[in-house]
Amino acid sequence: MKHRLDWSAYETAGQGDAYAGIPATGGDFAKAVAVCIGDKQCQRKPKGVMCPSFRATDDVAHSPGERVKVLKAALNGELGDDAFADPRLASAMELCVGCKGCKRECANQVDMAAIKIEYQAQRNARSGVSLRDLLVATLPDQLQHRRFVRSLIRWRNRAPWLAQLGERFFGISAKRKLPEPAAAAFSFPSGSNPLQLPLVRGSAEPAPPLTRGGWEGLSSPETNDKSLILFVDTFAMHFDPEIAHAAHQVLTAAGYNVSILQALADDDEPERALCCGRTYLSLGQVDAARHEAQRMHRALRPALEAGIPIVGLEPSCILSLRDDHLKLGLGEAAIALSKQVYLFEEFIAREHDRKRFTLEFKPLPQGKTLVHGHCHQKAVGAMKSLRKVLRLIPEFEFEFIEASCCGMAGSFGVEAEHADISMRMAELDLLPALRAEPDATILANGFSCRHQIREGAARQSHHVALLLRDALKEPTSC
Ligand code: SF4
Ligand code: SF4
Repeated sequence: MKHRLDWSAYETAGQGDAYAGIPATGGDFAKAVAVCIGDKQCQRKPKGVMCPSFRATDDVAHSPGERVKVLKAALNGELGDDAFADPRLASAMELCVGCKGCKRECANQVDMAAIKIEYQAQRNARSGVSLRDLLVATLPDQLQHRRFVRSLIRWRNRAPWLAQLGERFFGISAKRKLPEPAAAAFSFPSGSNPLQLPLVRGSAEPAPPLTRGGWEGLSSPETNDKSLILFVDTFAMHFDPEIAHAAHQVLTAAGYNVSILQALADDDEPERALCCGRTYLSLGQVDAARHEAQRMHRALRPALEAGIPIVGLEPSCILSLRDDHLKLGLGEAAIALSKQVYLFEEFIAREHDRKRFTLEFKPLPQGKTLVHGHCHQKAVGAMKSLRKVLRLIPEFEFEFIEASCCGMAGSFGVEAEHADISMRMAELDLLPALRAEPDATILANGFSCRHQIREGAARQSHHVALLLRDALKEPTSC
């Protein structure tokens, strides 16, 4: 089996364990599957993230442990010669939403989200990429280069016949609205520091090997550098530019020199925005995701070498850079970036702990705020940072919703065959919690989560950057 992802981190997994049950084929991928110890924790229903597909169906066939059993059967040749095309494997993997809940909560950190990417990549290699997956994966490109796509999405949301056509030909549920792009994409704030831009836009001069280990290298009192790079992901770029502007305002007000990440002048496509490749990776289009990652690594190389932090807004993008990119076989650049990239709230919490973020905020007029964490935020323990940051706003009343994945999970919730189960996932905890507090403000940092909340609760939700901007004592312009 030719792996599409790099599974070498599992090279020694199960070594010397007579009970590991490592399948006969699949190499290191098989070892990653076999880390499951079969204790069925994932088939109970405690609170936490794991496992939305099992909880929503109440069927163990849709739990991580049962997926492992079918994968093992496939890799042991029990599903025939071409197991990756077998409908039994397809059925086992279908409802995994890649939430990473099992990676965080199961006894042996089974990484089913990554396993599903390998599975999809294997399936794509056999039967090709579906038109729907191609449309979704290339959305960042379409939005940048084909202006009619913005109007088409808005038109489709208002014309039921067009939504029906979309379901018939592309498998996009007519029951669901699509997220609508902003009237205009993100534009550079006038306050961005042009002196910093050459760091990320300058020449691609070969640089010496990486020598410094990140932000630590510049955080001594002697250097006291407050430069950072803001990565404006596809979703902030095209759908919610206000979030990127708000983050820029807050970080600038706190005294940081904020540069916005751009493609290198000598990039193959210098005018195309950099992208983490999440939309490709989540649909098993690994080569395209790797290409996007390489563009980013190249553009970020000087910043990585200088130990300048990279700050981003969308959990699934930033945590892709930190976690999934390590499986793309990109070596040291991916490792360096994974250590130097932060969510907006992680960066502020960390800087505040170091007494470098001293900005004070004013109270907000709103009452209680309910906070829904993106499942990847929860999976890497980033909710602690969010809690810390919200405490910087005086008298701010908030409550975290205890919920699993919202069910939207990228494009999963708008796929015709998954629209209903997606909403059942939302109904497990998230939507009842919102209904119980009809007047609360809602905070949700995930783009998909905000869309699911709009769909399921008919309410708007906000990224923490907007809240902090509104709580600035001195209004700033950008
Ligand atoms: S997937 Fe994790 S929780 Fe489920 S049976 Fe395997 S080890 Fe246990
Ligand atoms: S990634 Fe999420 S949906 Fe998939 S098996 Fe793990 S907990 Fe379940």
